[in-house]
Amino acid sequence: MDYISTRGSAPALGFEDVTLAGLASDGGLYLPSQWPQFSPDMIRALAGLSYVETAVRVMAPFVAGSLSEDELRDLCAAAYGRFSHDAVTPLVQLDHRHWLLELFHGPTLAFKDVALQLLGQLFERFLSRRDDHLTIVGATSGDTGSAAIDAVAGREKIDIFMLHPDGRVSDVQRRQMTTVLAPNVYNIAIDGSFDDAQALVKRMFNDPDFSARFNLSAVNSINWARLMAQVVYYFYAAVRLGAPERPVAFSVPTGNFGDVFAGYVAAQMGLPVAKLVVATNVNDILHRALSQGDYSQGQVVPTATPSMDIQVSSNFERLLFDAGGRDGLALAEQMRGFEASKAMRLTNAQREGAAHIFTSARIDPDSMTMAMRWAYDAAGQVIDPHSAIGLAAARDLALDPAIPVVTLATAHAAKFRDAVERATGTRPPLPARVGDLFAREESFAKLPATFEAVTAYVAERATPRS
Ligand SMILES: *Cc1c(COP(=O)(O)O)cnc(C)c1O
Repeated sequence: MDYISTRGSAPALGFEDVTLAGLASDGGLYLPSQWPQFSPDMIRALAGLSYVETAVRVMAPFVAGSLSEDELRDLCAAAYGRFSHDAVTPLVQLDHRHWLLELFHGPTLAFKDVALQLLGQLFERFLSRRDDHLTIVGATSGDTGSAAIDAVAGREKIDIFMLHPDGRVSDVQRRQMTTVLAPNVYNIAIDGSFDDAQALVKRMFNDPDFSARFNLSAVNSINWARLMAQVVYYFYAAVRLGAPERPVAFSVPTGNFGDVFAGYVAAQMGLPVAKLVVATNVNDILHRALSQGDYSQGQVVPTATPSMDIQVSSNFERLLFDAGGRDGLALAEQMRGFEASKAMRLTNAQREGAAHIFTSARIDPDSMTMAMRWAYDAAGQVIDPHSAIGLAAARDLALDPAIPVVTLATAHAAKFRDAVERATGTRPPLPARVGDLFAREESFAKLPATFEAVTAYVAERATPRS
C-alpha cells in the first residue's frame, strides 16, 4: 500500500516509513492512495472472529508490503493481550436501540490504548529491522501521555520524554505516567499550561539539528497507524449488530477528529455505516464546520471533558482532503490561509462530501450530566463525561429509529471520578488492574517552561543517532 500526503507535494511512502515519519515533509498528513474495499461477503466472514483475527483481516491491506499477515497477527496478539476484557472492545446494551462500545479496557483506561499499544509494537518491529533509535517527545493533557508511556516503557530502541502541565492533570492521569519507572521513560512537569508544553515540543521538532540528532518522533493522532488501529473496532461492533445486512450508526465524542475519522475510513471500505455523529463539548469548532461550513478557531474553554478541549482538530484535514476531491495542492493553499487567519470556509465539495455521512451536535454541561444519569437509570451503567457527550448527542439527534446507535465509550469512569461524582453522586472505584496506583513510587522532573531548560534535559538523557 502506498501513502500520499494531504498537501500534495511530499513523496509517496510505504506503511513502514509512514509509521516512523508521522507528519509528511510538506506539512500534510498521510492517507492511503486508495481505500481497500470489503465486499459484503468479506464482512460476513468476520462474524464470530476474535478481536485479534478481525484486526488482522481489517488491517492487512493497509500494511501490505511492510508486514506479512503472520507478523501482523503476532503484533496484534501482543498489543491486545494486555487488555483486561477478552472481547477487547465489548458492546454493552443500554436500551432497545442504544449501545456502548467500551474502548477503555486497556492498561491506562482510555481508548488511546487501542491504537498506542499497537503503535508501540510497530515501532519496535520497524526499528529493530533498521537498527535505528527513536526519541519520542510529546505534550499531554492526560490520556495520550499515559497511553504512550505504557506502550513503549522498557523498549530498548525508544526513549520517551512526556511533558505535562504541573498540577493541571488529574491525579490518576499523573500517576499513570509518573509511576512508570522504566529507564527509557522521562516525565517532565512543566511550570506552565498545556499550551506552553505543546509550544515547547513544537519548537523542538522545528529545530532541524536537534530533531535530526535525536531522531525525534511524535505519537499524537496525526500518525496514520493510530487511525488504522481504530478502524478495527467499527467493523468488530457493526458485525456483531448485523452488518453487512444491517446498517449501524456511531456517535463519537470528538476532539482531534481521529477516532471519528477512523469510522469514516470503515465506511469508505464498505462497512454499512448509516451515520457518524461528531459530538463536541462547548469547544465546538467541528460542529460549526460541519453544520455551517465555518472552521474558525475560538478560545479553548476548560470543561469536565479535557480530552475534547480542542480548537484545532488536526485530523480534520484528512476529511477535507478525501471528501473534497483529493486535490492536495488546493488543500495546501486552503490550510495556509487557515494558519494565517485562524479561520476558513469549507468548499461546497467538502461540505457535500462530509454531509453524506456526518452529522454533529454541541453538548453543554447540563446535557452531559443528564446523559450520565440516564445511562445509570436506564441500564445501571456509570459512564465517564466524554462518553456522556457522545451519548447525549446520540439521543438528541433525530436518527433513523430502525438503526442501532453505538456510542463510543472513550474512557473508564474511574479516570474522571471527580467529574462523575459531581454529576451522579457515585464515585467509581479504580479497577483492580490499576488498584495500587496510589501506593506506587512517582518519579518526574520539574522544569521551567523554557526551551533551554527542556532541550538541555532531553539532550543529556536521550540517545543520539549513531
Ligand atoms: C482523546 C480522547 C477523545 C477525543 O478523541 P479524538 O480522536 O481526539 O477525536 C475523547 N475522549 C477521550 C477520553 C479521549 O482521551
